[in-house]
Amino acid sequence: MLRNCARHLVRHHFQQVIFQSTATMSSLTLNSVVDEFNRLAPLSLAESWDNVGLLVEPTSAKIIKKILLTNDLTNSVMQEAESSSVDLIYSYHPPIFAPLKRITASNWKEKIIARCLENKIAVYSPHTALDALKGGVNDWLAEAFGSNVASCNPLTTSYAAFPRRNCTHMVEIPVPFNPEGKKLVRSILELVASVPEARLEEHISTADGYEQMTIMAPEKALPSIIELVNQCSFANASRYVRIIRVEKPPIPGSGMGRLIRLSEPITINRVVELVKSHLKLQHVRLATAGNAENNMNVETIALCAGSGASLLKNVKADVFLTGEMSHHEVLDAVHRGTSVILCEHSNTERGFLSKWKEVLHSALGEDVQIDVSLNDHDPLQVV
Ligand SMILES: [Zn+2]
Repeated sequence: MLRNCARHLVRHHFQQVIFQSTATMSSLTLNSVVDEFNRLAPLSLAESWDNVGLLVEPTSAKIIKKILLTNDLTNSVMQEAESSSVDLIYSYHPPIFAPLKRITASNWKEKIIARCLENKIAVYSPHTALDALKGGVNDWLAEAFGSNVASCNPLTTSYAAFPRRNCTHMVEIPVPFNPEGKKLVRSILELVASVPEARLEEHISTADGYEQMTIMAPEKALPSIIELVNQCSFANASRYVRIIRVEKPPIPGSGMGRLIRLSEPITINRVVELVKSHLKLQHVRLATAGNAENNMNVETIALCAGSGASLLKNVKADVFLTGEMSHHEVLDAVHRGTSVILCEHSNTERGFLSKWKEVLHSALGEDVQIDVSLNDHDPLQVV
């Protein structure tokens, strides 16, 4: 019988994003640039439904000298990329999301991918990895409230990836110090060598005349390990095996959305002013909660860049700040006492690119020119 212990085991170091130059780089290949992108905003932070990372890869190896940052890869942004001969488009929203069954000129999204391939332009998308990142899109949105922020915490928790994919269990196997034990050690080592994700973590002698092997292994390898142990003649050998499920460690400060607690309460009008100023917008849409007057005191703001309804709907806050919500979602919020500020979807995201450009510039060095698209804008305008 296995003793299955569910205690959390935090063996990995927390992943930290270091916003600094890694080296003076020259002649950066696409692979090395992508590695830097992944280091700065690990793709393991992205939502499971998302489609992030390198989405278009030209077949010929190329040096990346020019990168265009955009929120959305539209026709006009594509035109800009072609006319300025960029090597890579860093598109916050993934231009390929639903699976493509063909690449033709009859659909604008397919045509853009065709143009990227024809011009040997790579496309990379970080999307929700950049949302969840500490110092990412949502933290940038929270900067609207400047130094009046007492706390700013993610609404969900991001977890680090396993160092080895699917290596989810730690198995502690006591081995008798005799010929049978030696045979078991050899068998276990052969098994570990045959499973790509598995590894021997530790092999020590214990005070009571046993050795102990500690194996990191995927769940699928567990039956084989127990089968080997059961071949030992000592009574109920597998009874002494401990199997511990390894939990992914949370990454402090990373996750979706943010809940801000202000140091000093401010009016809803002041909140609107600060948001407009930060996002450089003339207009936002405001739904004021219940009977609240414009002078109500706002102490808490829950925000989510882009489309925040599903994330925000059960959060208790004085104000929701996001790009878009439906009519009925806004009605639900205001009837629960939460005012809503809507800025249009990409207006809550795009401004981050100017800040991110500096981070990328520090990481990639002087040899790579990085520009933020001039043609990229939200499709909706207040007229
Ligand atoms: Zn979005």
